[in-house]
Amino acid sequence: MFDLILRNGTVIDGTGRPGYKSDVGILGGRIAALGDLSGAESRETIDVSSMAVCPGFIDMHSHSDLSILAHRKAESSISQGITTEVVGNCGWSMAPVKAETRESVLKRLLGSLVNREAFSSLEWNWHSFGEFLDTLEKAGTGVNIVPQVGQSLIRAHVVGTEKRNATRGEIEAMKDLVRESLEEGAWGMSTGRSYRPGGFAPTEEIIALAKVVAKYGGIYATHMKSEGDDLFSAVEEACEIAEKSGVKVEISHHKAVGKKNFGKVHKSLEMIASARQRGLAISVDVYPYEFAQISSLIRLFPEEVWDHIQKASGSGLKSSGDFPTQEEIREALKDPAVIRAIKSMPGLGPVLERVKNYLITNAPSAPDLEGRVLGEYAEEKGLDLADFLVDLLGKDGLGVHAAWPISSDDVYTVVSADFAMVGTDAFTLDRPIYPTPIHPRHYGTFPRVIGRFVRDKKLFSLEDAVKKCTYMPARTLGIPYRGCVEVGFWADLVVFDPTKLEDTATAKKPYDRSLGIEYVLVNGKIALEKGEVRPVFAGKVLRRQ
Ligand SMILES: [Zn+2]
Repeated sequence: MFDLILRNGTVIDGTGRPGYKSDVGILGGRIAALGDLSGAESRETIDVSSMAVCPGFIDMHSHSDLSILAHRKAESSISQGITTEVVGNCGWSMAPVKAETRESVLKRLLGSLVNREAFSSLEWNWHSFGEFLDTLEKAGTGVNIVPQVGQSLIRAHVVGTEKRNATRGEIEAMKDLVRESLEEGAWGMSTGRSYRPGGFAPTEEIIALAKVVAKYGGIYATHMKSEGDDLFSAVEEACEIAEKSGVKVEISHHKAVGKKNFGKVHKSLEMIASARQRGLAISVDVYPYEFAQISSLIRLFPEEVWDHIQKASGSGLKSSGDFPTQEEIREALKDPAVIRAIKSMPGLGPVLERVKNYLITNAPSAPDLEGRVLGEYAEEKGLDLADFLVDLLGKDGLGVHAAWPISSDDVYTVVSADFAMVGTDAFTLDRPIYPTPIHPRHYGTFPRVIGRFVRDKKLFSLEDAVKKCTYMPARTLGIPYRGCVEVGFWADLVVFDPTKLEDTATAKKPYDRSLGIEYVLVNGKIALEKGEVRPVFAGKVLRRQ
């Protein structure tokens, strides 16, 4: 007697082998039998003829540890077929944490990225990495969590947030924290080489920590120090760390941003391929979009601009990390004195030089700017960039959204590499978090790769696409009994219509759900049925053993 039988589907098992007709019998959360189960009894049976049945997608690069305690159902993830998320990326994790780093590092990060609500609703009753995992486990989550520890937090914990080299004693203390986190269940360590404070660490310091990770067979996931002008030296650093520490390296969200860097991924992928030939274990993940992280444009300006706005709006100086509201921005930018003060800032020139390379994804009062690179648009129209932006921000405030552009050819090239996997670089959401800008990857990443890239772009077969999203990440990390439709494996499964699977989320409508996913099972429990995400909280916190 099974708990559930999925009858008559086409099993795409994750290994890349061709899909085959089979029933799937589920018992006690695991796949208990495959093949013809027409004679078998089951508490529940679902007919899935004409559907594909594949392993649940494993998001190789997620930031859901930052949001999931406030969004436990993980709707955005489950609705696109994700059942397991590798979290703690780009140097950020929620532990280990102490009172100072919670304020100086995490509050800032959560406020800018996930929005303030996620921070204020938390109880913060953990310090160590293991205690955070206990908190997640106790709360219950919709998806399985594969945690990594963030090096930025470790460095903030021991060295603080200033830019200086660590002492020998501090390096030992950081190694201890990495070791403890790995003992308590982390699968590896991540870095954000271009972020503070973790990015203040010289390569040697990272190598020292990576050696600890290597000893445990863990992974080193790196948001590199450059994804644009200095992409190649950043890849060299990742290879050097692999070589000198012996750690497995995962290059996060691999891409080349900014128009002048388009095409560089051909060489960066060659560099990685040749490192692999030398025996280094290096892989990459990628999100399948033509633009990077979306921010409110005004957030790309220095804090001095925010200060002018906050002073003018009468709200006074707030604690560091707070940000002017929509009303404050609109109000302040009506004041000629504020505009004069902003325009006379010595730092404005370099900032404009930078932001003019951004793609504008949302500009309610200038719709013809949407989808364009800011500087190109201004030049074409003969606009003074400073005047134009002050006017635009005065009208639309936080509603002007910008992102680094990425070439679609580069995306296809990276995702097609045989060592490339897929990561959302998103955090899971159960509901909108206006006015924080949201990237369509939160809802559309995996259907975009397995639907659009297979059917329309013909980049790879359906079986190979599924492999990138399931079997490969499970094998790269060494997660047992996941990532494959096989007897004895956990029943993390996606039932979808390969002819209909499609992402619909866009920069303008980032919350739109993907089409074609009929059922999602997490540890044998039905977490999505006919488009509806159920609050079953069937996810497990997977601790590295
Ligand atoms: Zn990152």
